Amino acid sequence: MADGLLRQRPVNVLYLRDRNHRALQLSVDSLEGPAPLRLNGGFGLRDSRILVTLPPGAAAAPPAALTTGQGRSLNNDIQQRVAAPSCAAAQPAQRLPPALAARLRAIAGADDFTADEWSGRCSLCGWEGLFRRAHRSERETFACQDCRATLRYRGQAETLLTLLGEGRFATLAALADSGGLDGLAIFEPGISGPLRRWLRQAGHYEQSFHDPALPSGTGRDGLTCQDLMGTAFAAERFDLVVTSDILEHVRRPFAAFAEIRRILKPGGRHVWTVPFGGEPPALMRARVDASGAEDRLLLPAVYHGSGGDGLSLVYTDFGRDIGRLLAEQGLPTRAVRHRLEGDRVVAVTFVSTRAALPEEDLAAAPPGGGPG
Ligand SMILES: [Zn+2]
Repeated sequence: MADGLLRQRPVNVLYLRDRNHRALQLSVDSLEGPAPLRLNGGFGLRDSRILVTLPPGAAAAPPAALTTGQGRSLNNDIQQRVAAPSCAAAQPAQRLPPALAARLRAIAGADDFTADEWSGRCSLCGWEGLFRRAHRSERETFACQDCRATLRYRGQAETLLTLLGEGRFATLAALADSGGLDGLAIFEPGISGPLRRWLRQAGHYEQSFHDPALPSGTGRDGLTCQDLMGTAFAAERFDLVVTSDILEHVRRPFAAFAEIRRILKPGGRHVWTVPFGGEPPALMRARVDASGAEDRLLLPAVYHGSGGDGLSLVYTDFGRDIGRLLAEQGLPTRAVRHRLEGDRVVAVTFVSTRAALPEEDLAAAPPGGGPG
């Protein structure tokens, strides 16, 4: 009996990937009583401070245990405290990395969203039926029960259908089957997500993984590493680049936008999403100073689930000024808003177009001529 209880005792797992982390300050809420914190994954953590907050009323506990995965972890300071009752009720979810919060909520058997569902047709695969809410973030739920596309992917697919199919096709499957992608060169960074099942039917299709330890263009297991801040592709290679919740995880996002512009043909499109819901902030904000070789946190670390079981650090919170900032880079951008219940915006797809920059107009103008 006591043995059974021990085996069910939860473990707080912090899963690290993408790079070796250093000098992070992490705050982890344990919804159960004292539980060991297990640092896992293929990457290490050094010189960091982790504060584990136990629920109100929890017994005082010995310091959290730490075991590591394959990565090197050393010189980390792990402390525990017991939350005051009012604090715990006020904001546990905001301090937690979202994927960890979801895991802990699953352990606790509780969640805090309103159940909801509606009937409809998936804009990727054409499945028809009930889309159910199973997650607090609306853009991350209402998944298709066939291809698993969530609301944000279906919004992105609708935008692609408008751009590529001129509204003649209801689904990506129908567009691809009609040969509507045959003449296109498409780059879709990453290896997961429901869009690529159809986008890979393009005349030329590239996907990629990212490993900061490898130069762009390196092959591994049949896939190619590409750093979005500097790919191995030739200039003007693609008609379309599609990114889904990737750019918030890139160390220097404007370097990535410039690189995407470089590999797009003139007039080519970048169709992209980042976490951007109904009330985005006015101004874009860096969460991490990535100007040097090592990351330096400017704001508390926030992680998103990145496929499988991993967590990726968020470098940037995008704001409503992104359109103006990208227009200045030769990427005029518009936002396509996806609404629920009539008017409520729950997801946004951005469409950036490679346009000429003023200096390129000058370079292309005949001698003696000029704009104006
Ligand atoms: Zn579907």
